[in-house]
Amino acid sequence: MRLHMILPNVETEVTQAPRACRWCGSQHIYRWQQVAKRLRDTRVEQVQAQRWFCRTCGRTWRVYPVGVTQAQRSQRLAGTAVMLYLLGLSYGAVALALGAMGHPFSKSSVYYAVQAAAARVLGLRRAQVVGGVRTPALAGDLTSVRVKGKWLPLGVSVDDLSGQVLTIDALTGEDAATLKEWITPVAEQVGARLLITDDADSFKQVAAALGLPQQVGKAHVVRNTNALITALRPAALVDADGSLCALGLTTEQAVADLERLGALVGERDPGQEGELEESYRRYAAARGPGKGETASLAYRLRNLFLDRWNLWPRLVRYRTWRGPGGETIDGTNNGCERGIGWWIKERYRPMRGYKREQSAVNVSRLLAWCGNQLEAGACLLEVLA
Ligand SMILES: [Zn+2]
Repeated sequence: MRLHMILPNVETEVTQAPRACRWCGSQHIYRWQQVAKRLRDTRVEQVQAQRWFCRTCGRTWRVYPVGVTQAQRSQRLAGTAVMLYLLGLSYGAVALALGAMGHPFSKSSVYYAVQAAAARVLGLRRAQVVGGVRTPALAGDLTSVRVKGKWLPLGVSVDDLSGQVLTIDALTGEDAATLKEWITPVAEQVGARLLITDDADSFKQVAAALGLPQQVGKAHVVRNTNALITALRPAALVDADGSLCALGLTTEQAVADLERLGALVGERDPGQEGELEESYRRYAAARGPGKGETASLAYRLRNLFLDRWNLWPRLVRYRTWRGPGGETIDGTNNGCERGIGWWIKERYRPMRGYKREQSAVNVSRLLAWCGNQLEAGACLLEVLA
């Protein structure tokens, strides 16, 4: 797991005096008492808290050192529990590990510590894109995690230029209407000019509905195309069902068309769209299967060439696309794949599944948020403080 974990520090004395009354905001305050506080922490057993008094409203309050709250546990100890959980232990295993190190923790307190940390990750939901990021190139992808034995679809959006995860949301389905409802507010908030996705039909509809040009992840298309070519080639070599002959085509022509398709998709030269159209035209007259019939070889070739011809502009868009500031993209959806691999699937792997949908979303967001902070070197310190 590629996370920097920096645990909250714990100081034994208050080093920063309050400036105003926590109740009324008055500045007429003074330190009233120093009080010892027993603390459950990995290093410190006791710290000095202070009681302050307000002359204006007459009330008192406690001020704690850095890393200490009114809770019995320090933020460092709570942070250790969250860290062990994020590194892959179950709630119960975290409780056991901490207990063995002399810090008794119940399974439910580990759970609450993790959920509390996750709840403080404010961004990463669609209504509130992290840090008000703006980007012309928005990437979206879907993944799923098991919650109570069922697959829960998660939508992940990423700034394709920086690789930052922008949002993670639980979705009710993977249909175009649901995806549109999910992507629309994110696209508006970041000011997207381009949508990068895989080649699923539902994403195509979303891009069209939003009026955004689309780039489909090239690796995915290349893989799919090569798999189809490999599957169709043996039949094209012999024209077993006679459907090529019926169109006046030879097996050599069909094999050459398939090989050329593989080369075109591999090179992705924007100027070669016409060649795909030519290939499609050769098979355009192939008849579709009647009821109960299987599709003929010629008809399957027709569909393959038609589909790639239609897809072509979305496959090669990255070659010419420039953002308003001259930004460029590489035509992959690696940003999303990385976000999903590192922050959602990686944590999910050692578990049998989440028990609550919100927990699945919260933990994924917490991990992705930590990932975003990686370069800044801050992580649990900010989440827990
Ligand atoms: Zn006051």
